[in-house]
Amino acid sequence: MDNNSELPQVDQIITADWLIPMTEEDLWLDDFGIAIKGKKIVDLVAKDKVAEKYPEVKHLHLEGQVLMPGFINSHCHAAMNLLRGLSDDLPLMEWLEKAIWPVEAKFVDDNFVYQGTQHAIAEMLLSGTTCFQDMYFMPNQAAKAVQDSGIRASIGMVIVEFQTAWAQNAQDCIDKGLEVFDQFKHSSAICFNFAPHAPYTVAKETLEKVSMLSNELNVPVQIHVHETEFEVESFIKEHGIRPLTRLKEIGLLSPLLNAVHMTQLNEGEIDWLAESGSHVIHCPQSNMKLASGVCPTLQLMQAGVNLAIGTDGAASNNDLDMIDELRSASLLSKLDYLDPTSMTAYQSLYAATMGGAKALGLQDKIGSLEKGKRADFIAIDLNRIETQPVYNPVSQIAYASSRDQVSNVWVNGKQLLKNRQLTTLNSELILSNTQQWRKKIRPID
Ligand SMILES: [Zn+2]
Repeated sequence: MDNNSELPQVDQIITADWLIPMTEEDLWLDDFGIAIKGKKIVDLVAKDKVAEKYPEVKHLHLEGQVLMPGFINSHCHAAMNLLRGLSDDLPLMEWLEKAIWPVEAKFVDDNFVYQGTQHAIAEMLLSGTTCFQDMYFMPNQAAKAVQDSGIRASIGMVIVEFQTAWAQNAQDCIDKGLEVFDQFKHSSAICFNFAPHAPYTVAKETLEKVSMLSNELNVPVQIHVHETEFEVESFIKEHGIRPLTRLKEIGLLSPLLNAVHMTQLNEGEIDWLAESGSHVIHCPQSNMKLASGVCPTLQLMQAGVNLAIGTDGAASNNDLDMIDELRSASLLSKLDYLDPTSMTAYQSLYAATMGGAKALGLQDKIGSLEKGKRADFIAIDLNRIETQPVYNPVSQIAYASSRDQVSNVWVNGKQLLKNRQLTTLNSELILSNTQQWRKKIRPID
């Protein structure tokens, strides 16, 4: 056997001026790259070793760019991209009851969800997101849009008690959700989560069923919880306990729980989350825009709770921009605690990548650049007036770059964004479909 027989088989090597593996705090590698075979990363290699180690392999060098794991948007309602800007500047319940729920009741159907999700996927790929966790009606259509695009996603089996275009009631949501789960469970880029909307829209008995099924199938649960003070106070008035206490009593606090928002937390509750290994999904821009409150990120991290970041839906954010979101997470934390060290550039990047992978139960597959993991990664072009000079690429991404600097995106080893062009989605068709929805939802006189 010759020496080369010990080298992995490689399809392609992509190198860049910097590589941030997200495996060690503040670590980046200069002039480094990724060797891909099929869907996986098979080697991380220094640029000056490529020719000697892999003389036959196609090598692409991205000058002035940085390679890092793709962002994981740990909470969104993808199809709500069609409702972006429909209604702004209202508190959560008024916004939901007056603006969002009536429009959803009238317009949400299969096409709405497929085309809305497709629009969201296009926006996410253009922003460097390679995986998202979704919660919306018609998860079968969302899964189809995911499959057709090549992006990775955890699709929410959405659950509410009331009748929707998707299902008659909570049991029907569970039954239909599980059918979709069965239909797509062998897909390499799609996984699932149970997505009961919130403790105030889903009954105790339903949450008990969800808890049982989640344990039985080892499928995570994402739920909006403690989003606002109003939610907590109303729940106490009605049930005599705080919403998180209900989840604890049911047994939902576990490493399978993705608690979304968590702006209202006392010290005891932070301990519960830490002891149970539950994950918190922080959506800072949605929380700021709806004036919901501030998630206590520093106390959660100090207690050892895994933190992930989500954009929430485009109707409440109003974009699916993870660079902007992780920057907001860091800046909001500093202001909230009046402590500039409370959430560093690296900690916010971590929450937006590895933190998300852990929350979604995908930490062995994605979230960092390591041998054996899926080749889900992005390149960001720092060779711009706005992001020069580069002393520290981690700082540059967290505090100075914008999503239009995301140049290339790979998911499962396949390039989905090439020099800012989508390779699997038709932008013009997506724009045209979205404009048709705009005319249908709010006709112009
Ligand atoms: Zn949400």
